[in-house]
Amino acid sequence: MTEHFSDHIPYVAIPLDPLSNDAETLGADFQRYLSYHLGRFQGCRPVYLYQALAYTLRDRLMVDWRGTWGEYLQPGKRRAYYMSLEFLIGRSLGNNLLNLDICEPTKTALLNYCTDLEEVASQEPDAGLGNGGLGRLAACFMDSCATLRLPVLGYGIRYEYGMFRQHIENGYQIENPDHWLRDPNPWEVERAEYSQRVQFGGHTEHFLDHRGRQRVRWVGTNDVLAVPFDMPVSGYKNDTVNTLRLWKATATDEFNLDEFNAGSYTEAVEAKNHAEHISMVLYPNDSSENGKELRLRQQYFLASASLKDAIRLWERQGNHDYSKFAAEHVFQMNDTHPTIAVAELMRLLMDEKGLGWEEAWAITSNCMAYTNHTLLPEALERWAVHLFAKLLPRLLEIIYEINARFLREVSMKWPGDTERLRRMSIIEEGPRQQVRMAWLAIVGSFSVNGVAALHSQLLVDGLFHDFYELWPEKFNNKTNGVTPRRWVAHANPGMTALISEHIGDSWVRDLSQLAKLKPLAEPEHSAFHARWREVKYANKQRLAALVKKECGVDFNPHALFDVQVKRIHEYKRQLLNLLHVVHLYRRIKLGKLDHWADRCVLIGGKAAPGYAMAKRIIKLINSVAEVVNTDPDVDGRLKVAFIPNYRVSSMEVIAPAANLSEQISTAGKEASGTGNMKFMMNGALTIGTYDGANIEILEAVGESNFFLFGLRADDVDELRHCYRPWHYVEHDEDLRGVIELIRCGHFNMTEPGIFDMVLDAILSPHDPWMTLADFRSYVNAQEQVSIAWQDQEHWTRMSILNTASSGFFSTDRTMEEYNRDIWKLTPENRNGD
Ligand SMILES: *Cc1c(COP(=O)(O)O)cnc(C)c1O
Repeated sequence: MTEHFSDHIPYVAIPLDPLSNDAETLGADFQRYLSYHLGRFQGCRPVYLYQALAYTLRDRLMVDWRGTWGEYLQPGKRRAYYMSLEFLIGRSLGNNLLNLDICEPTKTALLNYCTDLEEVASQEPDAGLGNGGLGRLAACFMDSCATLRLPVLGYGIRYEYGMFRQHIENGYQIENPDHWLRDPNPWEVERAEYSQRVQFGGHTEHFLDHRGRQRVRWVGTNDVLAVPFDMPVSGYKNDTVNTLRLWKATATDEFNLDEFNAGSYTEAVEAKNHAEHISMVLYPNDSSENGKELRLRQQYFLASASLKDAIRLWERQGNHDYSKFAAEHVFQMNDTHPTIAVAELMRLLMDEKGLGWEEAWAITSNCMAYTNHTLLPEALERWAVHLFAKLLPRLLEIIYEINARFLREVSMKWPGDTERLRRMSIIEEGPRQQVRMAWLAIVGSFSVNGVAALHSQLLVDGLFHDFYELWPEKFNNKTNGVTPRRWVAHANPGMTALISEHIGDSWVRDLSQLAKLKPLAEPEHSAFHARWREVKYANKQRLAALVKKECGVDFNPHALFDVQVKRIHEYKRQLLNLLHVVHLYRRIKLGKLDHWADRCVLIGGKAAPGYAMAKRIIKLINSVAEVVNTDPDVDGRLKVAFIPNYRVSSMEVIAPAANLSEQISTAGKEASGTGNMKFMMNGALTIGTYDGANIEILEAVGESNFFLFGLRADDVDELRHCYRPWHYVEHDEDLRGVIELIRCGHFNMTEPGIFDMVLDAILSPHDPWMTLADFRSYVNAQEQVSIAWQDQEHWTRMSILNTASSGFFSTDRTMEEYNRDIWKLTPENRNGD
């Protein structure tokens, strides 16, 4: 597909010298970009200052970017490919400044232009190419791989429109498109010369080749071109720049010739539009699938283009002996979204490289690895067989064959167990046949991992139990993490400086060293404690300003900042938080103010546009906030705000300012959570259920520094058979009061009845999230929070201990475990260390 590109014209490679990083040179480069490249002079919009600065920094990544590519492409070098439909990157400028270690000269350089760095950096749009935790995890992984110098290449989709922008109107969520690429994106390099062709539709032809072997051709297809855009992923002060390769869909060049010649030029251009639809928009569903054809197209588009690209890179090094392929490749699939890669690699090896089934299967099943992110049934991907037949007929044939051979293996192990065969079949039988993508992922992979200890255990005990009995060795746990560069060093410079002053700065690349802070939590270090509080206070002022600007609500930085930000979902139980807020409000109204602590409750998050209940919960939060914040009786004791458009760049302000982190999902439902880790690192205390990585946080920091409440996962399962929410209402006066206050319309005078659906859901014996079962235990834990907050010296010690115990939750540790157990790559050893 590259024949019309002249990438083989010889040229003299000029050696690249690293650029100077002093303030003067940076300033001159900045000026040159602004004037000579962007054509902007005095008094331009600040977005151009951002662009000029971004190009200035990008230049400083190029030498190491080229060098890193060169090292990773050495013959025989094993590489990992992280395939994900989502990379929730956020902004890049501040992160690259940190990694390049040129923050100070850059600030100095900008002084000459009468502008400050923060103002310029805030002009960058978030790269919102993900929904929530799953996409953010992929971005944190990329950061850690670069810092660890692991040869890992990220593959994703360059969505023209990322995660929608959320506005709040009259308390309701309004979605607006996020055209983040409207202005040129300085952090990408288009590499059209490496475009790949991806097939859709058509039909298959079976034939015998010249050696008499059964072969298959996939013909009559409508092809789409995948054009790669590379984003640099810098490591932390280590001269390494890895690559995130994002695919954009465009029409193939020859598509229009026939139609063009027939005079239907506009129809021909239509086809181009149609092709470009594939990478037009990110599906805004977190933890649920909607089965749309375009989504399946996106998944195959990513899988096919990426595999072809990996093969191209490998063959370009002179490799043709496919018996060596598996030893040099591992493809990590982030959830089932890219799982069609299993069938696609089979197709490429057989139909295009001429391998037989056995040989192709040995390769495929030895280089695919799958990460599961959820047990929620509504999130498990199943694709209608008829859709597959229409869109990817050759892939469906291969999936049928994988399934037939797999079921033979199952019936050898368990002869006559037809019920088990039915359960384990990749094809779900029934009136509407479906392909179970998680089953395809397990069968096609040598490694299957969950994302926290509890989650991985629940997988092998429950959903994946049959497969675990067949292949116990495939299953493993890799507890998630977050990158301390973005989430501490970049987001919380005040705390970073304070920590480094006491324990040096090598904790930024070895987070376990934060444990050295533990002795500083002892009472005799009261001066350190005072500074710790000062830093938190300054961060709270910064957040209070944001809340004022975005919500018009006054947060007093002396009050307890109680924060829950994450996607809005019933299982995450923002409703439980809200019931507590209403309970606090009633206490004020009733004058029950014993051991009261003033609180500012901040809630934020997006609801999937089709998720009516989640959207109504947003309305309820805003309605309660409106009443609480304007009731004179409340008198500053309680403030409630819903921060609109929660995203990576807002979390960078929120996490460093939180005192209390709300991690209150129904036990067994939150696979891991990573928001919980960002808060912990930044010194917040957690109020949480025994769920996901909360459990590991609790173990790391100790029970006395964590507010644990609620049912355990096995309690939840047991109670499900006999759940009686009315029982709790009858026996708990406070809960009854809260429910009645919402029911009577106190928070929705002008829109009667709008919250009935919310109350009915939590009062139903079928409420899967069992919100009311945990109410009392939650309220009690919150009282312990208030009591603890009264003793600021004690709270500070607990805060320090949370940060000091958070070392395990660095994605550096997570990546080291992936590498040790799954990828087995050799980190690149650059000169200098
Ligand atoms: C960390 C993060 C998440 C994940 O939060 P959870 O509390 O683990 O669900 C979601 N969105 C953004 C923007 C984040 O930064």
